[in-house]
Amino acid sequence: MELMPRVRGLPLADHTAVKRALAEADLATLMAVLVQLSGEEIWLERCAPHIKPIIFDGAPLAGGGASIPAELGDQMRARLYDVLTGANPPPQRPIDSAIFQRIASVYMGEPVADEFVDCTMEQSGFVRFLDRDLGDVPAERRDFKVAIVGAGLTGIAMAIRLSADGYSCEIFDRNPDVGGTWFENQYPGVGVDTPSHYYSFSFELNPDWSHTFSSGDQVLAYLQRCAEQYDLYRKTRFSTEVVSLVYDDAAELWNVKTKSLLDGSERTVTANAVINAVGHTNGPKIPEFAGFEDLEVPWVHSARWHKDIDLHGKRVGLIGTGCSSMQIAVTIGPDVEQLTIFQRSAHWIRPVPINVVPEGAKWALRHIPYYGEWFRFRTYWTASDGNYVNVQIDPDWHMPNVSVSRHNEALRQRFLAHLENKMGDRPELMAKMIPDFPPYGKRTINDIGWCDLLRKDSVELETSGISHFVKSGVVTNDGRTLEFDFLILATGFQHVRMLHPLHIVGRNGVDLHDLWGEEDARAYKGVAVPHFPNLFLAASGPNTSPNHGAGANFVSEAHVHYIAETLNAMLARGARTIEVRQDAHDEYNAAIDDALKGLVWSHPKVRSYYVNSKGRPYLSCPYRLVDSWHMMRSPDLSHYHLSPPRVANAPEYIREVA
Ligand code: NAP
Repeated sequence: MELMPRVRGLPLADHTAVKRALAEADLATLMAVLVQLSGEEIWLERCAPHIKPIIFDGAPLAGGGASIPAELGDQMRARLYDVLTGANPPPQRPIDSAIFQRIASVYMGEPVADEFVDCTMEQSGFVRFLDRDLGDVPAERRDFKVAIVGAGLTGIAMAIRLSADGYSCEIFDRNPDVGGTWFENQYPGVGVDTPSHYYSFSFELNPDWSHTFSSGDQVLAYLQRCAEQYDLYRKTRFSTEVVSLVYDDAAELWNVKTKSLLDGSERTVTANAVINAVGHTNGPKIPEFAGFEDLEVPWVHSARWHKDIDLHGKRVGLIGTGCSSMQIAVTIGPDVEQLTIFQRSAHWIRPVPINVVPEGAKWALRHIPYYGEWFRFRTYWTASDGNYVNVQIDPDWHMPNVSVSRHNEALRQRFLAHLENKMGDRPELMAKMIPDFPPYGKRTINDIGWCDLLRKDSVELETSGISHFVKSGVVTNDGRTLEFDFLILATGFQHVRMLHPLHIVGRNGVDLHDLWGEEDARAYKGVAVPHFPNLFLAASGPNTSPNHGAGANFVSEAHVHYIAETLNAMLARGARTIEVRQDAHDEYNAAIDDALKGLVWSHPKVRSYYVNSKGRPYLSCPYRLVDSWHMMRSPDLSHYHLSPPRVANAPEYIREVA
């Protein structure tokens, strides 16, 4: 008789560690694990009345939604202890979508609808992004060379997927290591503002995050580990800037011109396809301040920080109040003699838990089967489409000046209550901190100590505006000269100038930046542009940022999947090039513009880096993450031109040439 394989890793031998993990890990997550391992759905029935949705009106509910009675919790822990350590572990069976959905719905305290199931099973790591039965790699992929620009989060995912699919990849990065923005941003306090257990690849869950929101060096180490594990260092040309991409119509190849940042030497290589994975946060924005050239005070942009900067005991000016500024401020605040923060506009601030991940929970993430997947599902669910209601404009809303709907107003009240709670006894300071635009118009900022910092005597929130710079510092609009020993520009990035300064020339000599103009990038599904065959923008194109929720990693994986599927589909049909049709591109963009009209980023009071100077939100994706995921499952080849097939019996529609 053939024995059923048992769950890998069970039984767990370290009983002391199991007990500690069961005590310190998240109880609702343990419930999900118990039901999956044991098949005992009675635990769902017993827990259901005690679990409420984590997100309510777009805001996380205090306490994480679950208040399972202690006695029930003890019973579940005891039963799970037996399952994990007993001599007869449960059989290994893949989780099917029906049981996933039943567990997920109780675990989240709300129905997890059918449309979310495939997407969240993949995002949780239950259905592995890379585990597809490819069989033998088709020969046409092996000699199809793909150049990837950028070895950050997206470039790494792209290279991993394409390598798994059998392509030959070469990656270029101007930095001497992988990591992209996480390599470059080394400022004090740099860290994620997306929960760490979500901000990572679904196919490489990391059990070791130290905090709910972990530091940048942990993200960088994680990305380095992934690059190492998937053999990407060997395929990456470091300290190499891609300066131009020029398409050769006759050869159907891209000429990739690179420049070494070590010795200045230039080289041109060819590639069948090019993928831009350069992200949005890679060109520091240095505003054109009057008199800035006269400044004699040393200064740095947040993204160009270096370890020699010592601010101890100095008078420091910090310009900007975005995420970077806040992380810097709360970190350097206690060390400097005086900190003056220049705020041009107030940002909405949300309270967040600043949690250390207990050792027992880390152990559970590493050793208890499925705990990592379920916990990932929970962080995904909390940080994503539950927030979508906050950004939708209700056309009948009666307070359109300050908020856009009942949900958005409820959130505004929550944020105001947080400010009142923290700053109520400092009404003048609090008044400066209240934004004049609806919540979610700009990226909401986690209060990781910002309010407490601003209460300090040594910290000033300067709101009168910068008139100009002089040798020793800043002259404010009301005529005061503020002198500093050091200035920090946390003024953000040149998001709007997408793919600058890369020179990109497509079919018939069409220049991408001429096509887009200075700041109006457009693409089909954010990834493909007419006139640019075999060129893709992976999570670096227009209208792809999920500004209602977190998920740079989500977008990366969705785009990586789509691009790989598109190349696979093209080659499977014997074609060598694929180019999006103009009509498909235009239709897609018309729908984007239409959808954006109903969302908060189009609100007249919103001035943010999501919006270009003409008022068009060029960065935000107007769709829910789950919609984007479904949209990016597979290419609709009728939206593309394919180059003439090499196979004689190819279907008619792919014979059409641009
Ligand atoms: P940012 O959000 O663009 O903020 C820039 C700040 O500089 C804003 O307060 C802006 O004021 C101010 N500013 C810009 N030009 C100015 C001028 N001419 N005069 C005065 N003030 C000026 O930049 P960031 O904080 O570096 O963040 C950039 C991106 O990185 C964001 O997407 C952010 O979320 C992301 N980030 C992510 C993490 C993470 O954990 N994943 C961490 C840090 C940053 P206004 O508000 O008036 O425009």
